[in-house]
Amino acid sequence: MLVPDGVFMVLSGFFLVSHTALPKKNRNFVFMKVTFLGTGTSQGVPVIGCRCRVCRSTDRRDRRLRTSAMVECGDRRIVIDAGPDFRQQMLRADVRQIDAILLTHQHKDHIGGIDDVRALNFVDYPTIRPVDIYATHATAECVRKDFDYAFASDKYRGVPEIRLHEIDPDTPFSAGGMEITPIAGEHSSRFRVTGYRIGRFVYLTDFSYIPPENIERLRGVDTLVVNALRWAEHDSHFNVEQALALIADIAPRKAYLTHMSHEIGLHEEIGRRLPDNVEAAYDTLQIEI
Ligand SMILES: [Zn+2]
Ligand SMILES: [Zn+2]
Ligand SMILES: [Zn+2]
Repeated sequence: MLVPDGVFMVLSGFFLVSHTALPKKNRNFVFMKVTFLGTGTSQGVPVIGCRCRVCRSTDRRDRRLRTSAMVECGDRRIVIDAGPDFRQQMLRADVRQIDAILLTHQHKDHIGGIDDVRALNFVDYPTIRPVDIYATHATAECVRKDFDYAFASDKYRGVPEIRLHEIDPDTPFSAGGMEITPIAGEHSSRFRVTGYRIGRFVYLTDFSYIPPENIERLRGVDTLVVNALRWAEHDSHFNVEQALALIADIAPRKAYLTHMSHEIGLHEEIGRRLPDNVEAAYDTLQIEI
């Protein structure tokens, strides 16, 4: 269970201990664990048919499934986005139960794997465990359209059991036992996108613009994850320079880049061009906050 920042500050002040001075047992109580399930752009890396040196790399960190992350706090578990690699990501991370899925937007690389929540529905069969999915109205509408059979009045046997919750992109909400602050921004002129702040962790993917009032919601974070497609500019995703500008403004203790294309280069070479507090994430990377 996450302890809100304010409560933690009062407690630590009362006991006159710093964050790091807490015994390991209590640190586990306060901290959350984040697993990068996928760090690739919409086509993934390697790209089908591509012969570039990144797509031919034998470094496992250059193999990027579609972008997704898992946030664990105590025994609660939230997954952000469920793209076409969702099944493989759940198998790789050995997951058999999740408390909620948060969707960032309606692009297929973020929702294409929703049908595979069926396995999680039936893991304790005959008990059926519906999966709670949270999304803005526009994204929820797309989920209802793409997976109409899951929302039909006359469902056939074995369809995904989903409880779809519409969120307001400007209003905090609870999901999976965690308090979540949505961070609304723009993906492109046609699409809005929602990032999420959970305690001192922020996860932003597929952003190209964040309005100044929402940048204020990022202040004071410990760890910031933000999309960086490649070095060259792109009209609907931050490039590395734009991601680094946001990171410099927010000044988190640590930042990670995600949603990377093969054009960003070899993983082992990206890091040499980044500031000390910034790393390119890679699939299966786990961090504690
Ligand atoms: Zn995407
Ligand atoms: Zn390539
Ligand atoms: Zn997108």
